[in-house]
Amino acid sequence: ATPTAVMVATGKGATQGVLIKGGNALEKAHKVNTIVFDKTGTLTVGKPEVVSVVLLSEIPMEEFCHTVIAVEANSEHPIAKAVVEHAKNQLPDHKSQIGNGLVVKDFEVHPGAGVGCKVGDRTVLVGNKKLMRLSNVPVDAEVESYFSDNEKLARTCVLVAIDGKVAGAFAVTDPVKPEAAKVVSFLRWMGINSIMVTGDNWSTATAIAKEVGIENVFAEIDPLGKADRIKDLQARGKIVAMVGDGINDSPALVAANVGMAIGAGTDVAIEAADIVLIKSNLEDVITAIDLSRKTISRIH
Ligand code: ADP
Ligand code: MG
Repeated sequence: ATPTAVMVATGKGATQGVLIKGGNALEKAHKVNTIVFDKTGTLTVGKPEVVSVVLLSEIPMEEFCHTVIAVEANSEHPIAKAVVEHAKNQLPDHKSQIGNGLVVKDFEVHPGAGVGCKVGDRTVLVGNKKLMRLSNVPVDAEVESYFSDNEKLARTCVLVAIDGKVAGAFAVTDPVKPEAAKVVSFLRWMGINSIMVTGDNWSTATAIAKEVGIENVFAEIDPLGKADRIKDLQARGKIVAMVGDGINDSPALVAANVGMAIGAGTDVAIEAADIVLIKSNLEDVITAIDLSRKTISRIH
């Protein structure tokens, strides 16, 4: 495209809340035939809420909640925020004091799985089944049934392990964005195939995908794995756009032919992307591609 055409298109994009970082991004977007969507915070609202909590050991609720708060207060993950919020509400007088003065040491993030640390002299892990597997924490039949009940409802289960034993769990729900299904179906009409990639588990991922009308799903994928899925698609001749919001999406945003970041997402994702959807509305994925198609076809 000519510099003038690019300037006009990027200006037009900007007024509609679609920030296009230069002519290259605009050129590449018109060829996209495959869009890979992150799940959490991209297809979903990204503000998860806890809908239930269960205790699965002798540890009483109050102690359990204080321990969980002490751990999750260190995490930036939206699930962590929901868990902290809910755990506080379980405490008498909604005690807001973080972790009740418990000392947290050796806080660690396990990407795509959860977090862990020492709380006092206890070892605590908060995250999914993969985290439990990696840490050799047994998941028994009672825990499994809590999982299957909730995952059928597209809820994510968060397990809390204390000293190598599951002590309790939270069920978290994160509703899909109201425009998500419409956007996926419109993209199909435009000849673009939508795929979902997520660090979340297969059952929750499949339930969400069904809700938005996506047939191809990659679940339980870590951040580098997300980039690998993009490269696989490219190796099969696809021109791929990735839409994501998190730090965990940045390798995939870079690997994609066109990276699109959700405006409400993390700075790292916004920096890694070619296009930023300022309004965090998925309809702007269409706006961006449409703008590119119109600009490029006008020139050739
Ligand atoms: P997504 O790709 O859907 O944005 P992530 O890769 O960020 O998800 O995380 C994958 C999964 O790891 C989450 O669905 C959750 O089960 C678990 N997880 C990650 N961080 C945390 C945390 N701080 N607390 C609890 N669970 C977590
Ligand atoms: Mg995300």
